[in-house]
Amino acid sequence: MNVKISKLDYVRDVLNDDKVICKHQAGTSIRKQVHELKKNFGVLIYAERCHCDLVKTKHIGYVIDWAN
Ligand SMILES: [Zn+2]
Repeated sequence: MNVKISKLDYVRDVLNDDKVICKHQAGTSIRKQVHELKKNFGVLIYAERCHCDLVKTKHIGYVIDWAN
């Protein structure tokens, strides 16, 4: 993660690239950032199964809902 940008900007940039982001990719919990983007910035984000290979266990990733 680039230390020059905030965690919130990082999460938002990945989502804006139409990519799934999970806590394992971010290297840290991003629940707070996802919540903030939804509440304070009106970004529609939904959770779905993340298929990244960083961990073997099932986990949730977040993605922007462009439909709305
Ligand atoms: Zn993942």
